[in-house]
Amino acid sequence: MTDTELYRDIILDHSENPRHKHALPDANAQARGYNPLCGDDITVYLKVDGDRIAAAAFTGQSCAICQASASMLTEIVAGRRVDEVDPLVGTLQAMLKGEAVDTTELGDAEALRSVGRLPIRVKCATLSWHALQAALLESGAVKGG
Ligand code: ZN
Repeated sequence: MTDTELYRDIILDHSENPRHKHALPDANAQARGYNPLCGDDITVYLKVDGDRIAAAAFTGQSCAICQASASMLTEIVAGRRVDEVDPLVGTLQAMLKGEAVDTTELGDAEALRSVGRLPIRVKCATLSWHALQAALLESGAVKGG
């Protein structure tokens, strides 16, 4: 199996069987992301407990890539420290631009690497991550500026 096939299978798995796709009743941070180019409209929910993300979930309607990316996000960030999670957004964006970055922390989201070849899809792949950042800012867990 080539990397491309492996990545495609991981994206398909997350888009067809999204993890944590539900509202989070005890969320204390949330943000909605809308991508007019594609029609993706999702909301990311976080339960921030001190300096940790105790739980993450998402809801909404989106294309397969956006849904897969949001599903990956909820798996990657849950249980991690906020200060570890915030830089992952930059890592993901750099990877999509084709920059040589260490992607080991991205987990399954490394499979989105192939999306970088399709500029119109990059917004789909990053939408939930921007919502994650907005939610963290809103929660006060990450300082703006
Ligand atoms: Zn999309």
